[in-house]
Amino acid sequence: MSRNDSKSRPETARDFVASHVKSVPPSGIREFFDIVSTRKDVISLGIGEPDFVTPWHIREAAMYALDHGATSYTSNRGLESLRQGMAAYVREAFNVSYDPETEILVTVGVSEALDLAVRSVVEPGDEVLYHEPCYVCYGPLVTFAHGKAVAVGTTRENGFRLTRAMLEKKVTARTKALVMNFPTNPTGATLSREDLEGIAAFAVEHNLVVITDEIYSELTYDGERLSIASLPGMKSRTIFLHGFSKAWAMTGFRLGYACARPDLVDAMMKIHQYTMLCAPILSQRAAIEALKGYRRDVEEMRSAYEKRRNFIHRALNEIGFPCIRPTGAFYAFPYIAGHGMTSREFALKLLDDQQVACVPGTAFGPSGEGYLRGSFAADMEDIKEAMRRIGVFAKKL
Ligand code: PLP
Repeated sequence: MSRNDSKSRPETARDFVASHVKSVPPSGIREFFDIVSTRKDVISLGIGEPDFVTPWHIREAAMYALDHGATSYTSNRGLESLRQGMAAYVREAFNVSYDPETEILVTVGVSEALDLAVRSVVEPGDEVLYHEPCYVCYGPLVTFAHGKAVAVGTTRENGFRLTRAMLEKKVTARTKALVMNFPTNPTGATLSREDLEGIAAFAVEHNLVVITDEIYSELTYDGERLSIASLPGMKSRTIFLHGFSKAWAMTGFRLGYACARPDLVDAMMKIHQYTMLCAPILSQRAAIEALKGYRRDVEEMRSAYEKRRNFIHRALNEIGFPCIRPTGAFYAFPYIAGHGMTSREFALKLLDDQQVACVPGTAFGPSGEGYLRGSFAADMEDIKEAMRRIGVFAKKL
């Protein structure tokens, strides 16, 4: 054995893992699905990804690009024609204009865009507000950037909305940014214009940057679809993030983008340039196609999700697990407390007893205790059978 072989000196082996990385627990969704993967004949309402395959013409564009030798890097910012398409889309859909030359960066999914946005603004000790229950990465990304993640708990009683009053209770002199995601994974909540105006006024008053994750915006079922970036005075303090995974059913393409004023995009570019270089060219070529005549593709899937939303919302409330009407995204978030079990225990018992997989609400932060997340990005027949089984389970409680 060599002198450096740790097996020869286990007691002196150095712990190389950084303590701030160690402090972050692994994703609760992964942990739960490692258990689900060991079971047979499970109906899964657990996966947060479309059950549709990417529309054919988009796949065809990727195949065409490959067939014609598109195998190189692209510019770090992403293909110019894609950034032009993104600028046109964001202007049409959200009424915000970004310059494709200087204000848009193509990224590897919204995941990379979120990481770049957080890392480009957070300095050690800066506080970042985010609403919870929320998508699993917001808190950890802030910790990885040596910031302090500050969760603002939202509740069923007010429809899992985020309000200015709630934010005022958590803001301090160290607060630098607010991360928000409406429609929300996992609650399905959306905000009204009035809510957004209150949050915008809060951001201006405390001089904060707002990072808005708009990945589910196309999947809005009720009410106005509005981004905080479009409110007066907000474009210059907002990093607008969007991507193709959900509404275009393109999770495997790993494509997203960040829009912001040039100094913020330059900062994100710097990190992107040294860590990622560029998003995959085939995905970028597919995304150019995805933005052409996108309304029809997206609308077809959105209206299928809406029918399932109507069904699952009614079914869960009838069974006796109260659930707000999800006004966006593709998740129902029923309240299942009061049976002497934590969310995790409830989810495991439901899995054991009825072979139905839903994610425990605590995977989305401590304020998810008492809830389960059921995705309706699943086949309608599976959703119906899952509701029947959950009804049987509820009667035994
Ligand atoms: N943001 C939210 C709110 C999500 O729910 C997800 C995926 O579930 C992501 C971002 C990640 O998106 P992408 O596939 O574009 O990296």
